[in-house]
Amino acid sequence: MIIVMEKNAGHEKIGQVTSKLESKGFQVHLSEGVERTIIGGIGQRTQEVIELFESLPGVEKVVPILNPFKLASREFKQETTTIQVDNQSIGDLNVQIIAGPCAVEGRDEYLEVAQMLKEAGATMLRGGAFKPRTSPYSFQGLEREGLEILKEAKEITGLPVVTEIVDPRIVDMIADFADILQVGARNMQNFFLLKELGRVKKPVLLKRGPSATIEEWIMAAEYIMSSGNKNVILCERGIRTFEKHTRNTLDISAVPIIKQLTHLPIIVDPSHGTGKWELVEPMTLAAVAAGCDGVMVEVHQNPSEALSDGPQSLKPNNFNNLVKKVNNLRIALQASKGESVVEV
Ligand code: PEP
Ligand code: MN
Repeated sequence: MIIVMEKNAGHEKIGQVTSKLESKGFQVHLSEGVERTIIGGIGQRTQEVIELFESLPGVEKVVPILNPFKLASREFKQETTTIQVDNQSIGDLNVQIIAGPCAVEGRDEYLEVAQMLKEAGATMLRGGAFKPRTSPYSFQGLEREGLEILKEAKEITGLPVVTEIVDPRIVDMIADFADILQVGARNMQNFFLLKELGRVKKPVLLKRGPSATIEEWIMAAEYIMSSGNKNVILCERGIRTFEKHTRNTLDISAVPIIKQLTHLPIIVDPSHGTGKWELVEPMTLAAVAAGCDGVMVEVHQNPSEALSDGPQSLKPNNFNNLVKKVNNLRIALQASKGESVVEV
């Protein structure tokens, strides 16, 4: 439930409410706004409890949160969350363009593509060092060496790096190298991993599971948030349907639904969402038009030689064109809403 305090209710009254919540076994989340403080209480809510809190001094009203997700919900926090990564922010008017090969395959190749991506206008780099593959015989990633290459790419380009975490035992190691820790679709409901990520200070990019409903996906975000890390970015990457023409079915409607239900930023991955490089541009533009906060796109110098996900990887020149189209679309969308245009 949410306890809305009266305007200018002082520290003493806020303190009384939070102590009462704790004594009743509630987890307390304080949100101090400019005008008033809102206190989130997560625990067993009964009519009796609501009435008790409504009667406390300084309390304006008590609003129950009906959704099973609490901390992620728009009811709990009305302002959209903006996540800061170095000098960039995800969740405001920007459209982040995260790009890179599926996997870090080697130092020279990665540093070369990273430089190309930076010049083309990518705002962050991606690349898997630990690769969860369907087959145990497929390339599994360069592991720690891959992380070191990502770090070097960041030093050279100045762009933040996103990489996947698959193992709860090495969360701290990945957090030492990456700016954003990606939870892959297959691990969306690895609750031990999610809880470990709650301890980390870096943002987590949480991909939607291949068969997850939107509610299950938000509940996975709730695991990370309730374990202490509020910086969660959701990533729609397609779900499994009966359609075989594409690798997955990219659910663009998830973008406005997530915006309605939660205050978290959402990005879209049209590469895994379609599995076909020719579909990456139209689906990227559709995602931006739907209001996403960024896209994550796979790019490889030589897709036919890629060790993973070549068929869905753009060549650098196609990526170059894509960035121009995304920026034109973004400017047109902002102008059509009467918003002042934010240059990137
Ligand atoms: C990836 O981003 O390379 C990846 C493995 O994605 P997903 O978890 O969405 O399949
Ligand atoms: Mn991939």
